[in-house]
Amino acid sequence: MHAQVLFAYLPVARLDHMVGESSRRRASQNLFHACMRRVLQPLEKAGGVGVRMKSGDGLVRRCHPILAVYAGDHPEQCLVSCTKTSECPKGVPAGSLGENVLCHLRDINDILEALESYDPVKQPREYAAWCGGMGIKPVLNPFWKFLPYANIYQSITPDVLHQLHQGVTKHLISWLQSAFGASELDHRCRCLPLNHNVRHFSKGISGFSRISGKEHAEMCKVLLGLIIGVPLRDNCSSDKLLCAVRGILDFLYLAQLPSHTDKTLDDMSAALNTFHASKSIFIELGIRDDFNFPKLHSLLHYTSSIKLFGTTDNYNTEHSERLHIDLAKDAYAATNRKDELPQMVAWLERMEKITRFDDFVRWRLGGRLPPPEEISPRVHRTRIQIARYPTASMTFDDIRRDYGAGNFRQALSRFLFHRANPGVTQSEHQDTISRFNLDFARVPVFQKVKVWIQDAQGRSEADDTLDVVHVRRRSKAKSGRKLPARFDTVLVNTSEPDERGGVQGEPRIFGERV
Ligand SMILES: [Zn+2]
Repeated sequence: MHAQVLFAYLPVARLDHMVGESSRRRASQNLFHACMRRVLQPLEKAGGVGVRMKSGDGLVRRCHPILAVYAGDHPEQCLVSCTKTSECPKGVPAGSLGENVLCHLRDINDILEALESYDPVKQPREYAAWCGGMGIKPVLNPFWKFLPYANIYQSITPDVLHQLHQGVTKHLISWLQSAFGASELDHRCRCLPLNHNVRHFSKGISGFSRISGKEHAEMCKVLLGLIIGVPLRDNCSSDKLLCAVRGILDFLYLAQLPSHTDKTLDDMSAALNTFHASKSIFIELGIRDDFNFPKLHSLLHYTSSIKLFGTTDNYNTEHSERLHIDLAKDAYAATNRKDELPQMVAWLERMEKITRFDDFVRWRLGGRLPPPEEISPRVHRTRIQIARYPTASMTFDDIRRDYGAGNFRQALSRFLFHRANPGVTQSEHQDTISRFNLDFARVPVFQKVKVWIQDAQGRSEADDTLDVVHVRRRSKAKSGRKLPARFDTVLVNTSEPDERGGVQGEPRIFGERV
C-alpha cells in the first residue's frame, strides 16, 4: 500500500581499520547517530515552527511533524536509546527484569540537560563518567537531542515479532521441551488431528533449525493442547505450568488485537499477572535460574504503548522486515553489483514514480468518484455452506456403523422436536421426545461444511475467516489407496458477539462425533 517510504540506506561499515573492539563499537554508534541526524534534519525546524502541508480536502494547514514512534528490534532499540543490551531501553528497572514490576521511564529532560552541559569532545572523561552514572552510553550527539518534542524513551514501542514470537514464546517452547522432553511433545504433535487453519507438524516441532516468527505463531496455536495431561517428573503438579503457558498465550493473542478497549487492556495485564504468578514452576523444575531477560520485561510496556500510539500492528517490525525484500534486496538485484548504492537509489526512485503515475492514470480513467453514500453497517452473521448434493444417502444404522454416531437418531429427533416446539421446557421435552417419531429411514450425508466466521471484534472492514469441518468415513481413493476417516471437533460459541472473550463455562456437546 506504500504506507511506508524509504528515506535512506544507513551504512553498515565494519570499521576494520580501527584498532580495538570497544572503540570500533563506539565509532559505529556515533556513525549511526550522525547519519540519523542528517536524515531527520528537516524535522528540527519543521517540528518546532511548523510547515505548511496540503491535506486530502485541499486545505493547507500548518503541521508540526515530530518523531513520535521508533519501531525496531531490541539491538536497534538499545542503539537509538544509547542503553546497554542487557537493560530495558525505555527505563531503569525497579527490580530485576524478570519481576512483574514496571520500570521508571528515563527522564529525557535530565539527559538533555546533561548533554547540553558537557562538551563530549573537550570533556570526554567527565562526559563518560556522567553517562556511566545515568546508565547510558557516551554517544557523541544522539540524533534525538536535536528534535523538538522528541522523547526517545517514550517512543520505543513494543515489537510483536521479536519480543513475542521470536522472543518470549520461543523461550517458552524450549522450556516446555525441557519439562516434558522434546520427543514426547513431538509424538503428541504427530497425534494431533488435522484441522483447517492449524498447521499439522507431522514431524514434530523439535527438528526445526531456524524457526521463523510465522512458524512460532503456528506452534503457539497447538501448544496448550499439546501439554495438557502430560505428567511432570518428580510428581510435580502440571497445573502451575498450564497457568504459566496459558498466561503467555493469552497475552500473545490479546496483544495482537486490531482494536482495544479498557477491558481488553485489563485482560492483557491479567494474563501477564497469571504468568508471573506461576512462572516459578520453571525454577522448581530446574529449567531456569531466573527470568532476567529484557524481552520478558518488555511485555510490561505494552498496555501503556497501546494507549499512547494505538494497536501493536502500527509498529510491529514484521512489516519493516518485509520491506527489506522490496526496498533493499530487489533493489540490489536490479544493479550490476558494482558501486551498487547509486543504482539502487535510482531504481527505487523510478519505481516510486511509476507507482505514483500508475495511480494517477487509474484515477483519471476511473473518472470522478460518485458522492459517498451513507454506508450501511454490514450485517455480520456466521455463514455456512454445504455442497448442492449430498455425498450419500444413508440409513441410521449405516451412520451408526460408518460414522460412529450411535445417538444420531435421538439427537436429530430432539433437534427437530425443539425446532417445532420452541416453547417446551426441558423436562416436558424429555417426556415427549421418546414418543416423537421420525417418519423417514434415510438421511442425506454431507462430508464437508464450510463456515465463514465473522471477525471476533465485529469490525465491518475485516474479512470473515473461512473454516472447514470435515466429516469423512474411512474410504478408498480411485488409486486404491486407503483414506483414513476424519472427524473434526466443533466448538460452537453461542454467546452474543459483544460478550465474546474466549471459551468459558461448561462445553455443550452437539451430537457425538459428527
Ligand atoms: Zn522497562
